[in-house]
Amino acid sequence: MLYVYRFRLYPKKGQAEFLNRQIGHCRFVYNKLLEIAKESYEKEGKKWNYYEYKRLLPKLKEEFPFLKEANSQSLQEAVKWLDRAFKNFFKGLAKSPRFKSKKRVNSISIPQYFRIEGDKIKIPKLKTPIKFKKHRSIEGKVKSISITKLSSGKFYLNVLVDREKEPLPETDKVVAIDVGLTHFCTLSTGEKIENPRPLLKTERKLKKLQRKLSRKVKGSNKYQKLQKKIAKLHEKIVNQRNDFLHKLSKRIIGDNQAVIVEDLNVKGMLKNSRLAKHIADASWRKFVQFLEYKAKLYGRGLIKVDPFYPSSKLCSRCGYKNEELKLSDRKWTCPKCGAEHDRDINATLNLLKEGLTRLKRVVGVDCPELTPVESASALVEAGSSSFQ
Ligand SMILES: [Zn+2]
Repeated sequence: MLYVYRFRLYPKKGQAEFLNRQIGHCRFVYNKLLEIAKESYEKEGKKWNYYEYKRLLPKLKEEFPFLKEANSQSLQEAVKWLDRAFKNFFKGLAKSPRFKSKKRVNSISIPQYFRIEGDKIKIPKLKTPIKFKKHRSIEGKVKSISITKLSSGKFYLNVLVDREKEPLPETDKVVAIDVGLTHFCTLSTGEKIENPRPLLKTERKLKKLQRKLSRKVKGSNKYQKLQKKIAKLHEKIVNQRNDFLHKLSKRIIGDNQAVIVEDLNVKGMLKNSRLAKHIADASWRKFVQFLEYKAKLYGRGLIKVDPFYPSSKLCSRCGYKNEELKLSDRKWTCPKCGAEHDRDINATLNLLKEGLTRLKRVVGVDCPELTPVESASALVEAGSSSFQ
């Protein structure tokens, strides 16, 4: 299974200058070829392919001799990115490729001839190895690396590895998780998981600075300073959130044989302005991705239940559908059986029931006596740890 490790890179001054130039060369080639391909597409409707771009590389090197300093394979990778961007555009999956800007996130890919030695990375054309913060060991077969420069100026090393699956010992637990409005999420065990305080604090700080920025004169010194500060906070939020989601998904996958989640249509939800903030902030989609990956890695089952399933409105005890339930109702009493519900926990219990029903349906109607855990294991063995 493919996996990407990400480490903070600490280049010395000369090394950072070298990286900046390499990144600049890749950006230059990308933008140059984009310009040419864009023009010929707009004028003649011609769609370029990878080999046509690649054929232009030697000509570019001749015309712009500074490109000879670049790692050729990194330039070729930049060409591949462009080719992919155009292909996605032609297929209607993405907007027309845009020119890369120095101010935004920029990367170079290094497919070969690099060496990782302890906490140092040796890359082609640079004599001295660059230090990185190795906060975890690298497991699996290393395939390629890339180096990313964020808009704050920080460098990161990404190491792509092919990892063996590491099935965990079986357990008899199954859990359903529901995205929360007032919490990050609720588990069917009754546990409510809060958004981490440090993350909320950084988000509040960011909002404050964004308001401040809107009052400054665009392009002024103070404006640019503030912009840099905001970029740094954005990065901090991404890191804090990823850290939280990694730890949480690892714990949940570790504790349970199968995990049931609501497969939220995030795009559709974003249109609803009331939910927008919560959904976006909660990064539910990212969380489900993490769960999906870890389920595959550790041999667990992940079951997605479609979002239109009325999990909040059904009474988890008697099945009565409460059409009157409003978004603001956090607690309610079932008019039919009298059960008292916490909105979120009731929803996860319904999700759990629905997920288990689907699990049995998929694994085989012939063996209804199968326990949820046995079905989940059978599912994993069948090679599909996730299905809809
Ligand atoms: Zn009821």
